[in-house]
Amino acid sequence: MNQETLKKQIKQLAAEKDALLIAHNYERDEIQEIADVTGDSLALSMEAAKTDKQVIVFCGVHFMAESAAILAPEKTVLLPRADAGCPMADMVTTEALKKLKQQHPDATVVTYVNSSAEVKAESDICCTSSNAISVARSVESKKLLLVPDRNLGRYIAKHVPEKECIFWEGYCPTHDQLNLEEIKRAKADHPDAVFMVHPECRPEILELADHICSTSGMYEYVAKSPAKKFIVGTENGILWRLKKENPDREFIMPSHCLVCPDMKLTELEDVLRCLETLEPRVTVTEEVRVKAKSALDKMLAAPRD
Ligand code: SF4
Repeated sequence: MNQETLKKQIKQLAAEKDALLIAHNYERDEIQEIADVTGDSLALSMEAAKTDKQVIVFCGVHFMAESAAILAPEKTVLLPRADAGCPMADMVTTEALKKLKQQHPDATVVTYVNSSAEVKAESDICCTSSNAISVARSVESKKLLLVPDRNLGRYIAKHVPEKECIFWEGYCPTHDQLNLEEIKRAKADHPDAVFMVHPECRPEILELADHICSTSGMYEYVAKSPAKKFIVGTENGILWRLKKENPDREFIMPSHCLVCPDMKLTELEDVLRCLETLEPRVTVTEEVRVKAKSALDKMLAAPRD
């Protein structure tokens, strides 16, 4: 079946099943094209919570669908590829986190939303890449356990020097491999370009950035910027919407490594199959959900950076 026929069938079936199709900014172009909503993981979970549709097809990775299930427990949340995970989220287990908490009983656990529901449930508050600094400042404790991304953790620590920070040594394998040479080369080749980067990249890369922000922040930044050329320091799926919304701008990917294999797993056939079968479904136990929701709710009350 060709792509256009598949897209038509998906749209028709989604209407029949009362389903909302949502896709993360890093998904394949054709998946973002058929989505009713695109965005970052938190924005999509909030869309899932507020829609009146009964079925949510979450084209992304497992922890994102879990967040939707946490915020919208009465909905059927589907993840078209059950094997789409996040290596960074898998770098922390609840057992290991409980041990670290015992070693630092006076610390507040601040957990990036890129984590499992169980790990969120063991956390005091969550944060996203767009409100991490504000969340860290908002907690009363002087000591923070920053989980699981060491790069985001060091970015927070730099901006919140009044807190003592303990870092979980996890990282995003996609963002962490962007290296200094690649950025220096891109900047030398495009001296008129603005460099915007995601805080999941290494500290030495962030040092060279003109702007550090989340994926949603990048769309906003480009829309407001007078610049014509941008070096993009995040996963390459972001290009689809950046180019669509800014046809007069040029976007440069500094590295071929900025591709998350898990984000590219979902194909149109998977979305169609998932709508036909209403599987695979993502659920969270009520005990974990209530605790994880508490950490997410506290985060939602915090301002953006
Ligand atoms: S881009 Fe990185 S953080 Fe996002 S899903 Fe892939 S591995 Fe996880």
